[in-house]
Amino acid sequence: MSDPRQVVVIGAGVAGLTSALTVLTNSSVPVNVTVLEAESTVGGRIRTTPFAGLSAVDEGADAFLVRVPWATQLASELGLGSSMTSPTDAHASIWHNGMHNIPGDLMLGVPAKIRAFATSGLISPVGKLRAAIEPLLPATADTDSIGDYVRSRFGNQIHERLVDPLIGSIYATDSDHFSMAAVPQVAALTASRSMLFAAGKARAAAAKGPAGPIFATPIRGIGALIELLTQRVTSLGGRILTGESVSAIEKEPTGYTVSTSRGQHQADAIVIASPAKHSAHFVRTLDTRAGELLNEWTHASVVLITMAIPASQWPSRLTGSGYLVPKPDQRWVSAASFGSNKWAHWRPDDGSMILRVSLGRDGLEVMHFDNDKLINLALADMKLHLGVDMTPSEVRVSRWAESFPQYRPHHFARLAELEHSLGASAPGIVFAGASYRGIGIPACVQQARSAAEATLAHLATL
Ligand SMILES: Cc1cc2nc3c(=O)[nH]c(=O)nc-3n(C[C@H](O)[C@H](O)[C@H](O)COP(=O)(O)OP(=O)(O)OC[C@H]3O[C@@H](n4cnc5c(N)ncnc54)[C@H](O)[C@@H]3O)c2cc1C
Repeated sequence: MSDPRQVVVIGAGVAGLTSALTVLTNSSVPVNVTVLEAESTVGGRIRTTPFAGLSAVDEGADAFLVRVPWATQLASELGLGSSMTSPTDAHASIWHNGMHNIPGDLMLGVPAKIRAFATSGLISPVGKLRAAIEPLLPATADTDSIGDYVRSRFGNQIHERLVDPLIGSIYATDSDHFSMAAVPQVAALTASRSMLFAAGKARAAAAKGPAGPIFATPIRGIGALIELLTQRVTSLGGRILTGESVSAIEKEPTGYTVSTSRGQHQADAIVIASPAKHSAHFVRTLDTRAGELLNEWTHASVVLITMAIPASQWPSRLTGSGYLVPKPDQRWVSAASFGSNKWAHWRPDDGSMILRVSLGRDGLEVMHFDNDKLINLALADMKLHLGVDMTPSEVRVSRWAESFPQYRPHHFARLAELEHSLGASAPGIVFAGASYRGIGIPACVQQARSAAEATLAHLATL
């Protein structure tokens, strides 16, 4: 029998751990899998911890999309199928000189019907007139900037008060500088001349599909995915080594040597599941151009503050799931989630409201503030938005430095060049994770599955 093949996975976020699990599960040849993680804990951008008497409140991601299969399938594979839950039907709002319900009939903020904006106080009469002529406008010139495209179709107000808040809150981005192609739901609406008509058709088609919740999460929080992935990888013989920051990859006559802060590992194949910019320095040793391209990636930082607000301070009129703040209205807070309204299982016994408040995004830096300052900024912004003074009984500050990769216009052309360059100079090395083909958990899982299949295909050629 031949010696086991050696696979190294760099990064123990959801993409790295799922890559490791898939290689271990599907390999038809003996294989050793080693996951190298720079931090002292696994999970990367996913963390769930106790808060305000609740056993599990997410510090980052709190749900994943279920209209695409990958995360749901992973949760089932890990045995979480029966312990999943979905958000309540509390509505979300946008704050612009007051709260406005997010209208129905939108596709990620793009109007699918004229009534989506005609009856909303969010858009001024002039803004409504401008948006209403969209179907009459000639085709828009080719552009990969979401902002350029949507502004030219519907005018500035629809872009700034609907599309940008909805897309911006997912990617922590300024969608004037974000790739249209990287948001496939919106990119699909540019195939026809009128975005409004295309969105109308897309919504009608979606309405014919299966009904049901759009998001789901394990009752124990998204961290349960990481916990179970870790257990499964380990039980299949995989090794997960924390505190091992990869500093270089050298090509050998056969395979690669991966150097870390603690030593060296031999590899026949490597999955790079660490953020693009962090990977630049160790990829540069293999392929200068690939290193340069990775180094050009930008990643936005955010801070997420979780607060418990005593029941006596929470106004009963605030029954929604939370609100987004359009960029022109933002001071520091970009969104606030009324967690105990959004999730039935986040209701402490004393009736407190669990709030999750997001500060910062691409172009709005907040990481230089200390925690006290951040908490004060969040409370001052919420006083402006909600009209109430709140004194939290408990506060937790989660800093997510460089956590949201920014897909600049023409992202996929850069990615193609990166993969082509590295594919030619370093066969058997593949990328997976949020920096590349989608930042949501389902997209990270999907990329991990593909990376693992490519890895197995490479091993079969050795
Ligand atoms: C605040 C917040 C809220 C979010 N909300 C949602 C949500 O509700 N739903 C959703 O679907 N998605 C959400 N996301 C996005 C999603 O959580 C992430 O995109 C996803 O978890 C990224 O997974 P990943 O494995 O690609 O990368 P990461 O989680 O970033 O993991 C990469 C790992 O690589 C490690 N690493 C870096 N450099 C090295 C090195 N040199 N050597 C070894 N290891 C290294 C890092 O330490 C890290 O652990 C959210 C993200 C954040 C930050």
